Amino acid sequence: MTYDLLIKDGRIIDGSGRPAFHGDVAVAEGKIVEVGRLDGAARRVIEADGRVVAPGFVDNHCHYDAQVLWDPLCTFSCYHGATTVIIGNCSLALAPVRAHGREKLAGMLSYVEAIPMDVLQAGVPWTWETFPEYMKAIGQRLGVNVGTLVGHSAVRLYAMGEECSERPATDGELALMRGVVREALEAGALGLSITRNMNHFDIAGKRIPAACAPESELFALADVLREVGTGVIQCGGGTNPELKDRLLSRLAQACGRQIMYNTLLEQARQPGRWRTHLAHVEETARQGIRAVPLCNPGSIVNRFTMKNCQVFRSMPTWLPILQASDEEKMRAYRDPETRAKLRAEVEAPLGPDSTFSKRWDLLIVEQPRRTENRGLAGRDIAQIAKAQGKDPLDAFLDLAVDEELETVFSLGEINSDTDAVAQILGSPYAVVGLSDGGAHVQFHSNVGNPTRLLGYWVREKGIMSLEHAVRRLTFDSAAAFGIYDRGLLQPGMAADLVIFDPDTVQPGKQDTVHDFPNDGWRIRELAEGIHYTVVNGDVLLEKGAHTGNYPGRVLHNARHQMAR
Ligand SMILES: [Zn+2]
Repeated sequence: MTYDLLIKDGRIIDGSGRPAFHGDVAVAEGKIVEVGRLDGAARRVIEADGRVVAPGFVDNHCHYDAQVLWDPLCTFSCYHGATTVIIGNCSLALAPVRAHGREKLAGMLSYVEAIPMDVLQAGVPWTWETFPEYMKAIGQRLGVNVGTLVGHSAVRLYAMGEECSERPATDGELALMRGVVREALEAGALGLSITRNMNHFDIAGKRIPAACAPESELFALADVLREVGTGVIQCGGGTNPELKDRLLSRLAQACGRQIMYNTLLEQARQPGRWRTHLAHVEETARQGIRAVPLCNPGSIVNRFTMKNCQVFRSMPTWLPILQASDEEKMRAYRDPETRAKLRAEVEAPLGPDSTFSKRWDLLIVEQPRRTENRGLAGRDIAQIAKAQGKDPLDAFLDLAVDEELETVFSLGEINSDTDAVAQILGSPYAVVGLSDGGAHVQFHSNVGNPTRLLGYWVREKGIMSLEHAVRRLTFDSAAAFGIYDRGLLQPGMAADLVIFDPDTVQPGKQDTVHDFPNDGWRIRELAEGIHYTVVNGDVLLEKGAHTGNYPGRVLHNARHQMAR
């Protein structure tokens, strides 16, 4: 036979964790045909020159729900070797939706995931109502494969309208929600996403609908997955309820489906908690229950101004000010009485929902606006406060007010303890991922997760073998989300492949680009050392450039595939 693609002389890492070996990979009709020492005619030959050939990476936690409509490559995940992205996480999705609910639904995605509203207004064509119609709309033209989750907030808004953040659902509304979830699963959605993140608000300052649902509603929706016999459940903000009263373990037990939740991480605001969390997950796994946290190889650095800041939102006096107009913010931050209240809340003991660690030494002045403040760039608030003989809160707010809220700050409180991160990333009880691709587009980029794992954690820190790291990015993730035909480099599997150089692979330097609708800007993070990204047998990216091919498709759950 004539192959469509023959990759010669690769160091094959097949995604199972088995040792690498040298060989060729043959592809025909979008699938891997054979692996080994191969000859024969091929329409295209790629010389891998001893570089790694691996299954394409699965970027398992993304918010490209809107972006995919104007950017079918879902950049920039694919530049880091991702051939599949999973969208619809954390209860947020753009379907199902009725015409009068569009603005509200887009507002949730905009506010929670920090995607500018004018970008969404200009870029989302709203040609669908139901979830299957949305799947069809995005499937028109795709660079990468896209797996979808049906989001509980969208479902609740669809069923309950304006009151979706106000009250429990009636029996009729619940039945409608269950029907919508069933319809999505039957159309091939990979599962359902819910949230227990009580810090997620919409543009009007109301908690997003899914966070308002009582537990009984979560169980009723999860039960649809049991009935249909397929799908995963993803839960945003799952750590607190799981550690409090095993909510997600109970949910997984009740419906018999796997639950993936956010997040197992090391963070300054809760030192040592990751250890307790990991012990909890090991115990759950020993009982045969599938409630599994995601973990993240990145050190999330949050870049913000006090015009749009979520860092202090867990505190009651702070929250309404953060949501107020810029003038009102300035007035509040100047007012001594208000400031006393803000200070008291920051100084109170940390709770499980705290969003700020009080670690002023981790809060950096990234970009002062005024020339006379240039010297503060790169310094942390604790240092600055000391030099100015002020309380850190005063130093911080004085600067913000002095610069009319335009100072750019950065806060890196997460994954700053290397040993802890190494243990978390190596644990079989967690799944690596959580890039949040498509979200927080002007604040931070974590789509470099795979290249950071391979470059920093494997090559520089040596925390695991290359084979293990590839497995973390491929098979482990595909299996966790029910993607049955990808994640392994084996005959019969879909030909999603990445060719990379393990000696140079790493995230590139971040910059900004104006390539969003309405001339919106965002952070761009490209990669080094990724030579080819192949999707369904077609080359999508070659040495960092798009080939013009659109070989991606909407992925379906196994049950949907069987029924065809
Ligand atoms: Zn999310």
